Amino acid sequence: MTKVSDRLNRLTESATLAMARMSRELIAKGHDIISLSLGEPDFDTPEFIKESAKKAIDDNFSHYTPVPGFLELREAICGKFKRDNNLDYTPDQIVVSTGAKQSLSNVCMSLLNSGDEVILPCPYWVTYTELVKLTGGIPIEIQSSVDTDFKVTPDQIEAAITPKTKALMFSSPCNPSGSVYTKQELLDIAKMLEKYPDIFIISDEIYEHINFTDAHFSIGTFPSMKDRTITINGVSKGFAMTGWRVGFIGAPLWIAKASNKLQGQLTSATCSIAQKATKTAMLSEPKKVTALMKEAFFKRRNMLLERLNEIPGIKCNIPQGAFYIFPDFSYYFGKKDGEEVIKNSNDLCMYLLNKAHVALVSGAAFGNPECIRISYAASDKKLMEAAKRIKDKLAELR
Ligand code: PLP
Repeated sequence: MTKVSDRLNRLTESATLAMARMSRELIAKGHDIISLSLGEPDFDTPEFIKESAKKAIDDNFSHYTPVPGFLELREAICGKFKRDNNLDYTPDQIVVSTGAKQSLSNVCMSLLNSGDEVILPCPYWVTYTELVKLTGGIPIEIQSSVDTDFKVTPDQIEAAITPKTKALMFSSPCNPSGSVYTKQELLDIAKMLEKYPDIFIISDEIYEHINFTDAHFSIGTFPSMKDRTITINGVSKGFAMTGWRVGFIGAPLWIAKASNKLQGQLTSATCSIAQKATKTAMLSEPKKVTALMKEAFFKRRNMLLERLNEIPGIKCNIPQGAFYIFPDFSYYFGKKDGEEVIKNSNDLCMYLLNKAHVALVSGAAFGNPECIRISYAASDKKLMEAAKRIKDKLAELR
């Protein structure tokens, strides 16, 4: 008999981590698996950032820091918000956490009461639904598809609003679709939201620096949204620092205070050394630091899109950011592998894992069950080989 709490029983295992686990198991059995399931840059943290962490160790910067992060770091983050996003925050509005994942979790815990609804445009990052559920909220999904570049309209959002709506949560650039909301699209959403002053916006901008349009826009910049937007960001993606575990929020003071209070009981603060490294990242010129990585991702995106578009039945949008392609594979649902019917994207992902030896993540986990997420944070050679394997194995379905 298990005594796991109801709260935990409501939680689904992260689909991306589950796929990584399954592919590791197959690799351990000797299979040659190409893993395109994980969401992290296949680049190393820049040298000058690593150097500052080494120096922090030598300088014995090894004690507890203030819960929301040490002051100079929060000042540097305010500088980043102003420089890159034209957002005005003071250091007491910044809370640095153990990854943007904890930032999001702090915000959900701080904002949501049981039964509060959170609108999630599909596709959303897998963790959003689970965090909302874990903190007592109700995820309300709004559909989109490849035909609308996986974006939703203000009318769609408005149709989902009820007296219980507490927040709208989305990422742009989006994981998993790579879609980027333009300034005009965000303005249209903001104008609609002006009619609903009690709704908060949780704007996840973690992929800000991997944006091929070079036009990242923060919804919190609009004066009418400023006092009700929580801007989420971090160093994981843009600075290839996933393992350092640093994320942060810029938020209305009362939300920052609530996150701070919660974090004080949960983790105290994130790692002091990682905070020093993050300060260095914040004071650098992100455009220069990320240029090589972004260029590599852009080339790979084009190359992979070209290959995927050669496969009959697959429909792709043209992702403008992050490092994922999210094709619609529904053409293959109902086809057979021998006697087994491929009913949905979960079945198709398992088929591609077991037969093509390519690990991908089913779109069902992101709210779009007709799609599959392919991460192109892998070498050109691996991507080419994976595209060939996918094509060959799909051709065997009848
Ligand atoms: N937000 C989105 C949209 C992500 O894709 C991820 C990581 O995959 C995160 C947040 C979490 O990032 P971190 O590594 O800072 O926890």
